[in-house]
Formats: sequence, C-alpha cells, structure tokens
Amino acid sequence: MYIPEEKVSEILNTSDIVDVISESVILKKSGRNFFGLCPFHSEKTPSFSVNASKQIFHCFGCSAGGNVLSYVMKYHGITFPEAAKMMARKYNVTIETKEIDPVKRRQIHLKEDLFRLNKTIMEVYFDGLKKQDIGKTPMQYLKKRGITDDTIEQFRLGFSPNNWDTIVKVLKDRKISKNIAIQSGLILERKQNNGYYDRFRNRIMFPIFDVNMQVAGFGGRVMDDSMPKYMNSPDTPVYNKSRILYGLHAAKQYCRQEGCVYIVEGYFDFLSLYQNGIKNTVASLGTALTSDHVRILKGYAKRMVLVFDSDTAGINAAKRSIKIFMNEGVDTRILVLPQGHDPDSYVLKQGQKAFNELALNAKTMMQFLLHISIDTHGLSVEGRIRVLEDMKKQLILIQDSALRSLYVKELAETLNIDEKAVLEKVREQYLSHPGKKSFLHDGENKDAKLESDRREEQMISLMLNYPEIINEIKNKEVLEYFYSEKLKRLAQKILSLDPKKEAFITNAMAGMENAEDQELIASFAMNDFFSEQDIHQTALSIIHRIIRVRKKQENTLTTKIISAEKGSDSDLMDLLKKKQAEIQQLHDHL
Ligand SMILES: [Zn+2]
Repeated sequence: MYIPEEKVSEILNTSDIVDVISESVILKKSGRNFFGLCPFHSEKTPSFSVNASKQIFHCFGCSAGGNVLSYVMKYHGITFPEAAKMMARKYNVTIETKEIDPVKRRQIHLKEDLFRLNKTIMEVYFDGLKKQDIGKTPMQYLKKRGITDDTIEQFRLGFSPNNWDTIVKVLKDRKISKNIAIQSGLILERKQNNGYYDRFRNRIMFPIFDVNMQVAGFGGRVMDDSMPKYMNSPDTPVYNKSRILYGLHAAKQYCRQEGCVYIVEGYFDFLSLYQNGIKNTVASLGTALTSDHVRILKGYAKRMVLVFDSDTAGINAAKRSIKIFMNEGVDTRILVLPQGHDPDSYVLKQGQKAFNELALNAKTMMQFLLHISIDTHGLSVEGRIRVLEDMKKQLILIQDSALRSLYVKELAETLNIDEKAVLEKVREQYLSHPGKKSFLHDGENKDAKLESDRREEQMISLMLNYPEIINEIKNKEVLEYFYSEKLKRLAQKILSLDPKKEAFITNAMAGMENAEDQELIASFAMNDFFSEQDIHQTALSIIHRIIRVRKKQENTLTTKIISAEKGSDSDLMDLLKKKQAEIQQLHDHL
C-alpha cells in the first residue's frame, strides 16, 4: 500500500503523540516534556520522553525515537502503512488505498477475515451454551463454578459441542473459506486428506479478545479431568500467545485507575476476581509470561501482583516468572494464597475485602524467594549457607543498586549473618556472572563521541527546532565541512525541506529512510538546550566553528604533506595521508 506524502503530513498534523502514547504508557509532565517508563527497554526510572510541541518521542535510555507513526509501528510491531491507516482511522483522515501492494493487501485481508470468522464462531459457541439440550451440562458446570449470567454475557463464554464437525458444518452453511478456517486453527485437516474436523470439542469456550476488542483466538476447557485440561488457538496472524493477555481488553481501564494489576493463571481465576469486583486483573492463558507481556502491562500499571496457588506447581510457576519481572525492573509482588486455595476459590469463599487485604501484604520477589529457600533448607548453620547461595544468584539480577543493598541488609538480618559477608558473596557472584562485561561497558562508546560530532549534531538540532535558520546554513554551505557522512546525509535531507512547513520535525522524520535515522532525528530534536532569544547568534557561532575547525585541521595536514613532498620524505607523507584517511574514517563510523 502506498500512502501519499500529503496524507502522511495530514496524519502527522492532526494526530497528537501524547494522546496516542498515553494509551500504552503512563506519562507524567515534567518541564517541557512528558516522561514515562520506556516500552522498548527495561527500566525502573523513566527515561522515555514525549514532547507535545515537537510531536516526537525519544528514549534517553535505549535511544528509541521518532514521531507518532514510528511509535505505533514499533509498539504494535506493524508496518508503516498499517500504522498510518490506524492513525488515519483514529483521527478521521481519509486515505484511499487503491495502490496497495498485493502481498500486503492479502495480509490485511487475511487478518480481517480471521477476526470476522472468529467473531462468527464466538457467537456459534455462545449460542451453543444457551441451547436447552447441549448447553445444559456446560451451563450447570459454569454455575457450579460461580460464574454469573452477566459474566457469561460480557465475556461471551460459550460451548463447543461434543461433535467433530460443528464448525465444519457452520463453515459450509455460511460458505466461509476452508483456507481461512484452517489458518484460524478452528478446524484441522484429517490425516488421510479426506476432510476436516473441529479443534475444540466438548469444551467450555473462552473467546480471547485483543486490546482493541477484536476476537483474536479461543481457549477451551474440559469439564472433567480429561486431558488436556486447557487448549488454546495456535498462533495465527491475529493471535500471538506471547503478547496477548486474557481479559486485558476489559481490565485495562481498572488497571490504570488502581495503578496495579493482578496476574492470575487461569480463565476461571480471572472471571471470579473480575465479577467479584477485582477488575484490575488479567490471566496469562496458561503459557509462561514473557517480557512482551510485562512490557504491555507496564503501560497500564506500575505495580504487578502475581497471584499463585500455594501448591508446588504454583510456586514453581512463580519462580519461573520472577526473572522476567526482575529484568523488566517493575515493582512486582507475589501473592501466594493460603493452603488449599486458588484465586477463584479464595475470592468466592472469603470475598473481595479479604482478597484485597491479603494482596496488601503480598511479598516482594526477594522476600518470596527467601521464604521458599528457608522453607527448603531450614535455618541451621548449613541451611543458612545454602540460603545465602540461593539468594546471591537472585540479588545480582537486581539492577537498582539502592534496592539491592536494602535486600542485602534484609537478608543479612534474616540469616543473622554479617552484612559485609553477604555483600562479599554477592560481589563474588557478580564477578563470575557471564553477563557482567557488557553490562559494565555499556554506554562508554557514547562518551567517546568526538567534539566535531557534537557540533554537527548541535547544528542539526538547531535546524530541526528553528527551521528559520536553514537559509543561512544553505548560504554558508556548512554541510561541506561536516566530518560525519551520516550526519551530513541527515542534514542534507533536512535542508531539502521547506522551512515554512507545518510540524517541521515530524515531517522531517517522515522523510527519513529508516528507523535508525528517525531515532537520530528524534534525539537531536529533543536535545534542544538553546535559548530562543539568540538563536541566530548561536547558529552563526556553531557554523563558524564547524568551518574553522575543519579548515584549520586540513590546512595543517596539507601543509605538512606539502613539506614532506618537498623534502621527498615519502614515509612521512604516507603517514600523513594515512592520518588524513583515518580521521575521515573515524568520523564516518560514529
Ligand atoms: Zn528505551
């Protein structure tokens, strides 16, 4: 699909980046910018910034950056035309999509077809549950588990009858393409190649919505002890189990309100909590939580509470998830329910108030791990040494050093071991940790930036923020004196734009070829520390310095080369020429 340049401009001029990013990141105003936790890298203190007047975002941590379209692309993992279409829809900009590339068009249509089919089948399952005959047993089952009619209605719970061809028949009756149905995972091809059969049979059906309320897939649960207990749709173009969370479409506003989200494992856990007023809840669909899940949730709540059963399976699941949360640097608590309870049974029996009280006392991840380790090894001398061995591995994962030292203190007190000894152990572990090096040397390259680059970047930053100086730059031909080829290329593109153009920065960004260039533009545009009164003067002084430094350096080298030539010192000449080449190379590679 080709989106005309003027349409891209129109989208950029009408959309509001703060508004769009706020849908997925909690933003707080601070000075000229909004700040929030970056959805593209793990962090605990916000370095992700959004500027409303420039309509750009930039992360000071991972240097992700761009305009509203680059954000939407990156966040949702979609292509430029898809992002443009999404924003066009949101801001009522009409775009004709006649000149669609056929491959892309097929992909878009496939997604639309899959959503439509899923919706149709959701209603078939929903009707199945309502039927007097086949729906009776599953309905009784749901009632027994305390699920109300309202909940069934809201979450469109359903039933897949105990036949091999319920869906196959529906597809035939409604003339829906077999190919689409196969891709949705709702039906499977028989091995002998003689027809199709339904994937979900004799199961309670849970439609899985994406955050835009579209039916992305299904989960099915048996009503007895047969295996597998749960079955989910396979990954499809619209269903990606490592990115989707059950119930988030309904829970997201409550997660925002409470600043906290409960993460449970099963559909029933989710539904019981939700219908008992604990609406800031999502379920992980029985798959392991991924860092994508955590990053998505970060956009809705600061605190995450993992709710687990007290059985071994629950504890093991909690242990597995901890690393992901730790890496993402979010405030995470672990709520282990009293013996014999799961979230579903607990809230049904004890009610919302008791649950909330329990949640208030949820353990931090470290407290939880410490508790388990003590349970396993005991508090004898040998036991305490083992506990320390367990815990040092966890402690080095904590990125925040202040927090880490608090835990070291807590651990020392609990084990009644000298704090220094604990610290020593942690340090030992840290030094033998294979990931250590990259961790420590990160960011050093950034410091090595050369002065010239800094000046050239300042020049670009000025051009972006004060396009009125662009003519001056053209007149002085200052780009000819840039060392960095990359920065020169970016600056040339900016020079080719009309300085009077509205939303200059975002439009300049739209003209960049790749994401990397867009990120650079965002970071230069954001690094605007000039005072507005003397922009012209500032520009002139940077222009002069760029020209002067380069001329001076070249003059010196040239003079030396010439004198070496005269004295026919070929060794020195080679050396000098090499140096000249090296200087150029150095600049090109930064
Ligand atoms: Zn970042």
